[in-house]
Amino acid sequence: MTLGRVGQVSDCLFCKIVAKEIPAEIVYETGRTLAFRDINPQAPTHALVIPKEHHADAAALAAADDGLADEVLKTAHAVAVQEGVADGGYRVVFNTGAGAGQTVFHVHAHILGGRALTWPPG
Ligand code: IMP
Repeated sequence: MTLGRVGQVSDCLFCKIVAKEIPAEIVYETGRTLAFRDINPQAPTHALVIPKEHHADAAALAAADDGLADEVLKTAHAVAVQEGVADGGYRVVFNTGAGAGQTVFHVHAHILGGRALTWPPG
């Protein structure tokens, strides 16, 4: 990996969204987190919440900075409230590792809502 500005990785897609080098529909932002719409939505509401600082996955984030992990979760709930899906129920998913379907290795929480969600996921 190539280190860019502090806390970011220059060849990381989501670091490029943080740096505004790639466009995204941003729905919520805090000092250390960013939420934007998923480019391939799987539900009427499908947003991604990321820490602005680069961490590969949820395990790495929790190990490095539990305060930041907490802020990501709080942002996730704030997005659900703002999107109007908090009362009906919504799902927060961290795919962690390729075996779980993670394809972008900058930790992100999927916020899914606005339709009935079945369990177990595929
Ligand atoms: P993962 O499979 O859990 O790593 O999720 C990666 C997510 O990023 C997928 O749901 C993709 O649709 C989404 N994604 C990939 N590129 C972009 C983008 O440029 N903007 C917004 N979402 C993206």
